Amino acid sequence: MTRLGIDVGGTRTKWVALEGEAVVGSGTVPTPPGPDETVELAASLASELAPDAESIGIGLPGHVDRATGTALFVPNPPGDWDGYPLGARLRALTGVPVAVVNDARAFALAELELGAARGLADVLFAVLGTGVGGAVALGGAVLAGPRDNLGEIGHVTVAPWGSACCCGNKGCVETFAAGPGIVRAFGGSVTPEEVAEAARAGDGRAARVFERAGWALGVALGDAASVLGVGSVVVGGGVSGALDLMRSALHAHLARRRPLIGDIAVLPAVLGPLAGAIGAALYGRRSG
Ligand SMILES: [Zn+2]
Repeated sequence: MTRLGIDVGGTRTKWVALEGEAVVGSGTVPTPPGPDETVELAASLASELAPDAESIGIGLPGHVDRATGTALFVPNPPGDWDGYPLGARLRALTGVPVAVVNDARAFALAELELGAARGLADVLFAVLGTGVGGAVALGGAVLAGPRDNLGEIGHVTVAPWGSACCCGNKGCVETFAAGPGIVRAFGGSVTPEEVAEAARAGDGRAARVFERAGWALGVALGDAASVLGVGSVVVGGGVSGALDLMRSALHAHLARRRPLIGDIAVLPAVLGPLAGAIGAALYGRRSG
C-alpha cells in the first residue's frame, strides 16, 4: 500500500510515494495557482501514481486545523487559502483519507522517524529557507499546538529594534537566517548560495552575514532549549547548506549557556528537499 505525501511550497510543490519507509516515486511541479487547482493536482497524482494509495498527506506552509483538514493562515502559496476545506474536498474527490499538516511539523516527523533525529526523543527542528520554520519533539512525538502552530522558532525575537518580519514583529530569527534576510544583509542581487560561495572564497562581508545568522539561531535555539529542556537540534532547509558558515557563532552562543542547557548537539538534516513531502506522507498514515 502506498502513502502519498505532498509538500505545497510558495513556488514549487514536491510529492513522494512512500511504501513502508521507502520512497518509491517522487517529483517536483510548479505550485498550482490556487487551492482548487491544488486539490486537482493531488487527485491526479493519486490516480496516476498511487492508485492503491491508502492515504494522502498534504503539508502547507502555514497554520491548519488538523481535525478538519482546513487551511487557516497560509499566506505564501498563490490563491485564497484562508478557511479552505482542503481535506474534505480532496477526500470527496478521491475517497482516500487525507491529513493536512504544517510543513515544518511534517519535516520534523520525517527527520524524527527516518532521518537525523531517528532514535532521539527530545529535539528542536529549524528549517532555513525562504522563511525559518520550526518544530518541537518531546518524548518522541512532534507537538502540534491548537493551529498546528507549535514550534515557530523562526519568529523568536533576537533584535527588538531590527528589521520588520512578515509576521508583524521586528527582528525575528527569520530576518537574519532565512534566504531573503541573508541576501538583504549582503546587498546586491544575489542568491543565498552565492553569498555562501563568497564567504567560502574569503569575502569578509559575506562571512559576517552568516556569522550573524548563526548568532540569531543560537539565541533562539538557546532560549528554546532553556524552556523545553531538549538536548538536540536538527537544522534543514535549502539555506542549511551554509550551516558550516554559521556553526562557529551558533556554538559560541550555545556554549555560553552550557551551565543551564548542557551540550546541545546541532545535527544537519539528512533527508534533503523531500523531507516535507515524506513527513506529510507519514502523517497521512495517521489520518482516519
Ligand atoms: Zn517573525
